[in-house]
Amino acid sequence: MKIEFYRHNLSDKDKDEVRKVLDGLFLTTGEWTKTFEDKLAAYLNASYAVGLSSGTNALELCLHYYGIGPGDEVITTPMSFIATANAIEACGAKPVFVDVEASTGNIDAELIAGKISERTKAILPVHLYGQMCDMKRINAIAQKHNVKVIEDSAHCLESERDGVPIGAAPNMACFSFYATKSITSGEGGAITCHDKEAYAWFIKARMHGMSADAADRYSKLYKHYDMEFLGFKCNMNNIAAALLVHQMDSIDTFLEKRRIITEKYNKAFSQIKDIRLPAVVDGSKSAYHLYTIWVDPNKRDEYLHALQDAEIGVAVNYRSIHLMSYYRNKYEYVRGDFPNCEFIGDATITLPLYPQLTDAEVEYIIQSVKEIIK
Ligand SMILES: *Cc1c(COP(=O)(O)O)cnc(C)c1O
Repeated sequence: MKIEFYRHNLSDKDKDEVRKVLDGLFLTTGEWTKTFEDKLAAYLNASYAVGLSSGTNALELCLHYYGIGPGDEVITTPMSFIATANAIEACGAKPVFVDVEASTGNIDAELIAGKISERTKAILPVHLYGQMCDMKRINAIAQKHNVKVIEDSAHCLESERDGVPIGAAPNMACFSFYATKSITSGEGGAITCHDKEAYAWFIKARMHGMSADAADRYSKLYKHYDMEFLGFKCNMNNIAAALLVHQMDSIDTFLEKRRIITEKYNKAFSQIKDIRLPAVVDGSKSAYHLYTIWVDPNKRDEYLHALQDAEIGVAVNYRSIHLMSYYRNKYEYVRGDFPNCEFIGDATITLPLYPQLTDAEVEYIIQSVKEIIK
């Protein structure tokens, strides 16, 4: 049996929708983009959604909107995909890392206040694996110190914690529709926000700072465009949006399938002494995006290879960002700076988790893990 790490779930309906775009006029941003944005905003109870070409762009645009740049600091986690910290670097600001909770891998809200300085402009938490950070606490700290909160929600559309949903006002939330995310267009991203001015800025900023997009310019009477500020080029096109519009309707069905697989894994793996599982926090509703186990760091790579030999696709989410050469060299980080993060970075193995996994495949993964990690 060969089990890929991830298999997308695109249906004939999704493919037919793309065909409609291809048979039409506008391949770039247009009516499909808008339909997708409306669905996303409605699903998340946000006032606005803006479709982009990646989750990384989403993070960068939010930081730029707040005018964050050289001399500024943004507090974030070293336990994430590198995009999170890279977006801060790309703006010229400094990512200030805070260690994570040993139990969940999420940024430790208790440590954030100690890292706030005069230069801190924002907090950028990541809802790791699909379980939200302690947003009640993080929002309170942000409010007290008058800093912005941008949520990296690449791992969850579907979560909630202590009654707080993803991207609750006044926060912005950033999403990714990269190839292995829960809904995908291969590449894609979005921001949700609650502020009309921010929304208007994002719509222009994703298209060079132009005052009208192609559909506006050509479908009505020709209108000259102006360029109000130096923007970017990261608009979501109609093809990507067409792939996403029907997946939006299946989010909860996909989620339920991942939940059931997660429960099977949990039941089997909680009995294995050498496996630790990320804790599920009370009052938290997970998006079940990634299924990760934590094993003996000295044996992690050996287990990874053994699972690969058994033809099970695996991943590492993630190795610590502060120990990547770029960050080590630039900021002189060393091992020991963020011990909880480093443990996870050395111990983590992610197993396949997606709706198309069959019962037999899940059973095979469980049996293989049991044989390899005794
Ligand atoms: C996937 C991901 C991103 C980046 O998204 P892209 O669409 O690939 O740019 C950012 N943060 C996290 C936590 C991610 O998993």
